[in-house]
Amino acid sequence: MTYELLVAVPRPFRTLLTYSAKSLIAPGSRVLVPLGNTQTIGIVISSSQSTKSQQDEPALPLTYVIKHISRLIDHEPLLDKHLIDFLSWSSSYYHHPPGEVIFAALPTHLKGERQLPQPVYWTAIPHDAAEKKLQRAQRQQEMYHWLVVVDKPVTPADIHQQFGQGWQGYLKGLSDKGLAKTCDPAPLNKNDVAADTDLLRLTDEQTTCLQQCTDWSFEEKPQPILLHGVTGSGKTEIYLRLIKLIIQQEKQVLVLVPEIGLTPQLQQRFRQFFPHQNIVSMHSGLNDTERLDSWMQARNQQADIIIGTRSSVFIPCPRLGLIVIDEEHDLSFKQQEGFRYHGRDLAIKRAHMLTIPVIMGSATPAMESLHNADQGRYHYIRLNKRPGKARQPTMLVQDTRGYHLKSGLSEQTLQALRNTLERNEQAMVFINRRGFAPVLMCPACGWQAQCPDCSSNMTFHTRGSRLICHHCGTDRLADSHCPDCRGQQLTTQGQGTERIELMLQQHFRDTDVLRIDRDSTSRKGELQRHLDIVHTTERLILVGTQMLAKGHDFPNLTLVIILDIDQALMSAEYHALERFGQLLTQVAGRAGRSNKSGQVILQTTQPGHPVLLTLLQQGYHPFARQILEERQRWQYPPFGYQALIRASAKDMDAALDTLTSIRSIMQEQSPDITLMGPIPAPMEKRAGKYRAQLLIQAANRQTRYNSLKHLTLQEKNILNKRGVRWSIDIDPVELS
Ligand code: ADP
Ligand code: ZN
Ligand code: ZN
Repeated sequence: MTYELLVAVPRPFRTLLTYSAKSLIAPGSRVLVPLGNTQTIGIVISSSQSTKSQQDEPALPLTYVIKHISRLIDHEPLLDKHLIDFLSWSSSYYHHPPGEVIFAALPTHLKGERQLPQPVYWTAIPHDAAEKKLQRAQRQQEMYHWLVVVDKPVTPADIHQQFGQGWQGYLKGLSDKGLAKTCDPAPLNKNDVAADTDLLRLTDEQTTCLQQCTDWSFEEKPQPILLHGVTGSGKTEIYLRLIKLIIQQEKQVLVLVPEIGLTPQLQQRFRQFFPHQNIVSMHSGLNDTERLDSWMQARNQQADIIIGTRSSVFIPCPRLGLIVIDEEHDLSFKQQEGFRYHGRDLAIKRAHMLTIPVIMGSATPAMESLHNADQGRYHYIRLNKRPGKARQPTMLVQDTRGYHLKSGLSEQTLQALRNTLERNEQAMVFINRRGFAPVLMCPACGWQAQCPDCSSNMTFHTRGSRLICHHCGTDRLADSHCPDCRGQQLTTQGQGTERIELMLQQHFRDTDVLRIDRDSTSRKGELQRHLDIVHTTERLILVGTQMLAKGHDFPNLTLVIILDIDQALMSAEYHALERFGQLLTQVAGRAGRSNKSGQVILQTTQPGHPVLLTLLQQGYHPFARQILEERQRWQYPPFGYQALIRASAKDMDAALDTLTSIRSIMQEQSPDITLMGPIPAPMEKRAGKYRAQLLIQAANRQTRYNSLKHLTLQEKNILNKRGVRWSIDIDPVELS
């Protein structure tokens, strides 16, 4: 008997490969297979009895002879059926090669031939209705009784010895019925869920909100919940209590967060609330061994709660009962290279496939999430108040047109800073640009320091007097004179965090100025050290980039000053306004989070911009409505469905030619999509490559899917002369 396997290999192939095997191999297992002249690891996606009898084989053309796998690597599948289905769905939704998608979901250590780490321990879950559940499964019943009698964690080897061949199936049956689970080798820690030690009493608003979210979560077919709570309204407390209910049902919870390094407080809060639960994390700060460990603990159901960044959406959790997405609007959920998936969108899909609830929270929900709520596809609930005495900060707009600003801050702003420091409180100056100044130029002839590899200026950094390109990382000593006219007097223009820091140090000599940006926190542990300083120093000025916008809770911070974010108001890119509103609201939300009142000063040259006024006077929701109306007019997302095809090459014409060829293939097959371009990308050259793009817009997902499917099937016919690389970005979050 032979079996036919469909295998995903880590290559950019659009299809799965077919191999044969002598025995049935469980989908999700790794196999070693011959490919060309080499061997590669693959994951079995499906396996079936071969339909071809021996006699048929000679009739097949030689090239179609199906090769045998070289060997089976795993004794138990790495991935369960749900994950295989979910990853396959992801591959087709994003039109990304299935093998690359599946291997992206594996921890590095398991991408090779390394064995699954053992050991795993199993135990019975006591259940009143066990007999009934096992009525027609004799072997499962025997195994259950045995586990109950043994009354201690057992290893797969123990079970194997007791039950022989087929034990995995019986055990899986028990596990699926909720009658057996993996556990720690130590004596079982009875699920002692959280914590009467927790003293925070929910406010009335939180109580109502939690009740509503609970009801929604336990609906038969739960819809995603969008929790729109102003900054500091205590969304975390809602998650924690909802999670507790799920854990009491012996289920696992996955918590997706934007960037874990930036939210140590969230993790601390979780550990404090769930002292008896096993919480693991999964993020880029872990090494491969640590990541494997978290992955295994989730897979073996040893982890109750998994807190992780976007790629955790692929972590195996056999008893997943809830997904929480914190700061759902955050761009870091979108992978911006290679397999360009959106962690939030995939989490919602995964929850849907499993019929489990998903709750996503934000003070500034994404347009598509608000739209889904408007359409009744998501439940929607708000938290409008901050608990205790904390209030939303007041907002002051400073018109800086026609002022000569002393290194960026107006006299009024400086006065507000002085007042804050006199009260022994903290202030924060937000500017979303690191370095000293974005431009180094020659006033005599107009020369500017440009990156040789990008269409961009280089940023001047004081440390070591360097010029650094923020797009490709090119880094060199700054010029001492103009290379064009030999002029000796180079000047800088504009400002970044370093310049603001320096100016503030000179201005407030008796106050510490602490800069928090990627440069000042690049070494491990440095961000935490900086944050500790913020928490232990009463009087302080913080200068920082958007690293400071996210999730932090600084109780003594009462003044927030926002510089230079109004370019977004004039941007041609339609996403820019949404980002602007989110950033402004999030940064402003850092002020006045405990019982001291907070103030926000926005310095702008666009004080009368209608969208800005809506945001400031009416708040985020009316602002979002205005943006949505505008998008509807153009049928932009979330009203239409986009894909961006990007191409890059050594010269612009080659990139454009390839996209023109793609355009004509798509046009011919799919008259009902709108094609815009090809055009050079807003940033034409980056890291030495010229970039162009073609935007596709469709009225619905199916049309978009069909047209791109057709394109990928026609891949061979795309004109591609000069080493052009192109890629598909579904639901792009930026058109650059
Ligand atoms: P969000 O995530 O909505 O911005 P957090 O969950 O971080 O807000 O809560 C903001 C602050 O309010 C935290 O310091 C938290 O401990 C506190 N907090 C939340 N709920 C309550 C409550 N019911 N009583 C007192 N403090 C609370
Ligand atoms: Zn010059
Ligand atoms: Zn560059």
